[in-house]
Amino acid sequence: MKETAMKNFYIPAPVLFALDRLHAAGYHAYVVGGCVRDFLMGRVPGDYDVTTSAKPEQTLAVFADCRVVETGLQHGTVTLVRGGMNIEITTYRVDGVYLDGRHPENVTFTDDLAEDLCRRDFTVNAMAYSPDSGVIDYHEGLRDMENRVISCVGSAEKRFSEDGLRILRALRFSAVLDFTPDGECAAGVRKLAPLLDKISRERIYVELTKLLGGPAAPRILRGYPDIIARILPGLSEISAEKTAERIERLRTFVKAHGIALPKKDADALHYALLFADTDAKLCRRLMQSLKPSREELNAAETVQKFGNSPDAFTEEPFVYAVKLLMKAGGDDFPKKTALYRYALGTLAEETALAAIGTADDLASRGVCVRLAQMNIGGSDLMPMGFAGPKIGAALNTLLDRVLREELENDREVLLCAAKDLAER
Ligand code: ATP
Ligand code: MG
Repeated sequence: MKETAMKNFYIPAPVLFALDRLHAAGYHAYVVGGCVRDFLMGRVPGDYDVTTSAKPEQTLAVFADCRVVETGLQHGTVTLVRGGMNIEITTYRVDGVYLDGRHPENVTFTDDLAEDLCRRDFTVNAMAYSPDSGVIDYHEGLRDMENRVISCVGSAEKRFSEDGLRILRALRFSAVLDFTPDGECAAGVRKLAPLLDKISRERIYVELTKLLGGPAAPRILRGYPDIIARILPGLSEISAEKTAERIERLRTFVKAHGIALPKKDADALHYALLFADTDAKLCRRLMQSLKPSREELNAAETVQKFGNSPDAFTEEPFVYAVKLLMKAGGDDFPKKTALYRYALGTLAEETALAAIGTADDLASRGVCVRLAQMNIGGSDLMPMGFAGPKIGAALNTLLDRVLREELENDREVLLCAAKDLAER
């Protein structure tokens, strides 16, 4: 494995440029961490991080003629923006404790790559590579990768005590890579789980979202429901465990029917499924506690709200029920609601498929499902005597009749129906 990797390691040109420049200036530089791991596993790296012996000011001097962002100079990080990539270049460092739960309290720069690799969380994340030296693996990362285990660099208890987020990261990498925490790591996760209470919610959210999206998320949810419940006080372990089966059902269905599910929709569905047994109030509190963006919060909440409503998909005719969902949450919303309900086992497969097909068909034909698509607007109603909230109410009444196909979305027809309403 090591030899092939050394021969074929693909490094994008902007990253090679960064390594070459640093080498030419007399510094050591390697790609490190996730990109080395991903490349060795045949995965496409999300981003490339560089670790170097150059101190931050020296790095800035080396790239003085390039676009760089001083991302976190005190932590040794400079971002080189080149060829559409953001390459984080960080000075070899030894971390102090993470008192604020986000950044180590103090960092010390070092000249020794080995020390930098020691501060990294897991053996598979602690490998470095450069074209000259090949893969540098001081912590048996390659062996652990072969055995598909997540193992801490050094003592698990010590590493988790330094930064409690690593507890969740151990589960996240296990879910994403389809690995298993080794014995010491698993014991550390259980023993030190209370440390997660002190970790910033934003960091928890990032890791939990990746965990839920991982191919092995169901296995991790079944194996560690206590950890999931711990980071989401109010959520039961049973709910965490049940989410495993829900995510499996969702994925089987999506795969079997070739349904496109963009990442942000999948994320929203995972959270909606995780909180499916909670009421709307608790769902909101738990979601908000993770500090998601307004858009992310809204996405998960609306799926849950409409998915849990006994009325979803019951209105007759079916096409009207689908239109109501499109009106409420956009063209893709019947799909999300149907997938949610199917994953929970409260919607039959044929109904879910029919909802998705119907919504696709309506959207592709541009059928009117919302106010903005109506061939009439508020300014048409004012001369008829409508004012204030009555304008919106009248438009909604007309839209509902359009959705029911009692009225055509035709300007003359709608104006006529509006006049009738005004005279009532
Ligand atoms: P991803 O592909 O999800 O970005 P990654 O391995 O690149 O995975 P990052 O969170 O981007 O993960 O971190 C980059 C690298 O920094 C890791 O591979 C690891 O070496 C190190 N690292 C990140 N967070 C920690 C931490 N909390 N403790 C120790 N090392 C860490
Ligand atoms: Mg990364």
